[in-house]
Amino acid sequence: MVQVPQTQEKRTFRAGDIILRQGEVGTCAYFIESGKVEILMERPDGSVHRVGTRGNGAIIGEMAIVDNGPRVATVRAVEDCRMLEITQDDFARRLNASDPVLQIITQVILTRYRDTLTRAEILGETGTFPPPEQVERGYVEQTDAVETIKIANEFQEAMEKNQLSLHYQPIVDLGNGQIAGFEALMRWKHPERGYISPAIFIPVAEETGLIVSASGWALRESCQALKRIESIRGYNRSLFMSVNFSSTDFASENFVETLYNILSATDVPARQIHLEITERILMQQPETARDTLLMCRKAGMGIAIDDFGTGYSSLSYLHYFPIDTLKIDRSFVKDMVEKESSRELVRSIVMLGKNLKMKVIAEGVEQLEEAVLLREMGCDMAQGYYFARPLPEDEIVTLLHGWTPKKPGT
Ligand code: C2E
Ligand code: CA
Ligand code: CA
Repeated sequence: MVQVPQTQEKRTFRAGDIILRQGEVGTCAYFIESGKVEILMERPDGSVHRVGTRGNGAIIGEMAIVDNGPRVATVRAVEDCRMLEITQDDFARRLNASDPVLQIITQVILTRYRDTLTRAEILGETGTFPPPEQVERGYVEQTDAVETIKIANEFQEAMEKNQLSLHYQPIVDLGNGQIAGFEALMRWKHPERGYISPAIFIPVAEETGLIVSASGWALRESCQALKRIESIRGYNRSLFMSVNFSSTDFASENFVETLYNILSATDVPARQIHLEITERILMQQPETARDTLLMCRKAGMGIAIDDFGTGYSSLSYLHYFPIDTLKIDRSFVKDMVEKESSRELVRSIVMLGKNLKMKVIAEGVEQLEEAVLLREMGCDMAQGYYFARPLPEDEIVTLLHGWTPKKPGT
């Protein structure tokens, strides 16, 4: 018998009650805890046929979990029944949390089952097999899922075989033109396909949970790199290292403990580490995120909101979380010279940051004009191709050696 956890909503139906009605759109399935139901199918001529009965431990209405298609049959309680309701959302949540191969196979089986039913129905009514395009649905999307599994497997291998590296992009203090710190950005050089964009592998790593060990590796590696960069003779200013984290990292059990361990093992002071997170991460589990961030902040780490302005519409959350830096998204910076609306938006974010006593970093600065405007607005720091691209550690060392202050507009 199928074991269903007892967290779902329980429903009671009396003998004779209709539980599902043929032709209506369904959004949930039912697990029969006790009682008995009959499955009835109405034919186009109006005649109703009993096509089966189901009792304890059976599941009914499972097609609703695959799509929002119409119920193929009516289900009526023959005896008083107790049911556990399984909603589409609940099923999707459970499926997404499962092994990717299991996800695909489950989806394929359910979709194929629905197609077979449709095909059988048309065959019964017309006596001819319908063309595939009339009944088949959803198979095209499976190729995405297969690609995801492939990337996930290869990414795991990449971690084991040291194919991952970090590039560091300088973040420049607009007040004095000096490099204030870096953002660590992950790079994956695939043996056959060359560099794969983080925009492709990061979401897959997040989905599969592989990001947790990748982030741990990135933090350790970037802390060690910071130590090496700082130890260059004649360079004794304190630089910060900004590292990106995902919601999967935040949801992992030992997140804060892992951070502490890495910082102490690499001997990097917490104040030199900034965590970059997006608004989305904060909103997924606000209470947990707040607790986690408070611990990090108390230890001295900086907390920066990445891609600021693109995510959440309300600003009230800025008070709720211990945030100290806003990173203005590249999309606003990119248009700020030509478009007044973008320019004013950037100005507002800079002012907001000042009022809330937060630092503001502009991302994606590509032209001198943008840098000049940002400096005039009072934006604290900037990052972008105008100053430097993300570079491997050895090139960062060379860059630091030859760096002359870049103070735009002076
Ligand atoms: P992000 O955190 O917003 O990182 C900034 C992205 O903008 C980087 O892309 C960087 O190379 C690019 N960029 C910097 N300056 C300029 C510029 O002037 N013009 C333009 N057009 N682009 C600029 P990248 O390295 O491809 O990374 C893409 C995204 O992947 C990152 O966006 C971040 O969300 C994610 N990512 C990268 N590394 C990591 C990582 O170690 N962990 C996690 N969780 N995510 C990462
Ligand atoms: Ca970032
Ligand atoms: Ca960003």
